[in-house]
Amino acid sequence: MQSFAPGWMFRIWLLNMVPQILIAGGLHWWLYMRKGQGMYKKFDRRDLTRNNGTFTFRNQVLDNIWWTLGSAMTVATVYQWIIYWAMANGYVPTITWSGAPVWFVVWMVFIPMWSGLHFYWVHRLEHHPKLYKYVHAVHHRNVNIGPRSGISNHWYENLLYFTTYFIHLIVPSHPLHVLFHASFQQISPVLSHSGFEKLKAGDTDAARAGDFFHQLHHRYFECNYGTSEIPFDKWFGTYHDGSAEATTRTRAYKKQMYT
Ligand SMILES: [Zn+2]
Ligand SMILES: [Zn+2]
Repeated sequence: MQSFAPGWMFRIWLLNMVPQILIAGGLHWWLYMRKGQGMYKKFDRRDLTRNNGTFTFRNQVLDNIWWTLGSAMTVATVYQWIIYWAMANGYVPTITWSGAPVWFVVWMVFIPMWSGLHFYWVHRLEHHPKLYKYVHAVHHRNVNIGPRSGISNHWYENLLYFTTYFIHLIVPSHPLHVLFHASFQQISPVLSHSGFEKLKAGDTDAARAGDFFHQLHHRYFECNYGTSEIPFDKWFGTYHDGSAEATTRTRAYKKQMYT
């Protein structure tokens, strides 16, 4: 990775594309094509949108596939090329497992928190009326969300969203940290946008798939900018718990923001 060569660069692209296609595609197939659990725990009774000019190609699923695999995976891949190349050349601080085992584990645990903090602020910025209109609106075309909607973002939003990886240019990291960070950043939105609250396996609820928290963001917009794991929204006063009172508060905030 010390020089830019097609072999490893192509493999990094595959490392991003293959899990994304398998997980988002698999979940979409099971929940929306095969209708594996019918309407059970589905947030919105409507089906995903077809033949609607709001979406690229007039089709929500094709729109989402293009913005995810075309735009998001390209930006994520290019950023990772830069980081691995800088690490291989010793331009940035790196660690080894034997040299710093404690830091290795601690940093791994902190990566999701860093990702959550970074996302909260980037996402709030994107709700600035100007940025929203030209950039973030591409993601919010999806009022009724599906697994493909997770990182279905405009080019500029992807350029901003994936800057989270550049922390590895500053904080001493191992390549496995970058790999974990990328997987977490690229796969967790697939799950939080599944459109279902729970995944059913047999007669039991197997996993919490979608997240009511982010579903509310797609419905009411000016609330729940972060992720449900770390309560930044509670701390910064933008939390919506699904109650009527929270809806009133969110609408008042939105009004004040756009006037
Ligand atoms: Zn979203
Ligand atoms: Zn948003």
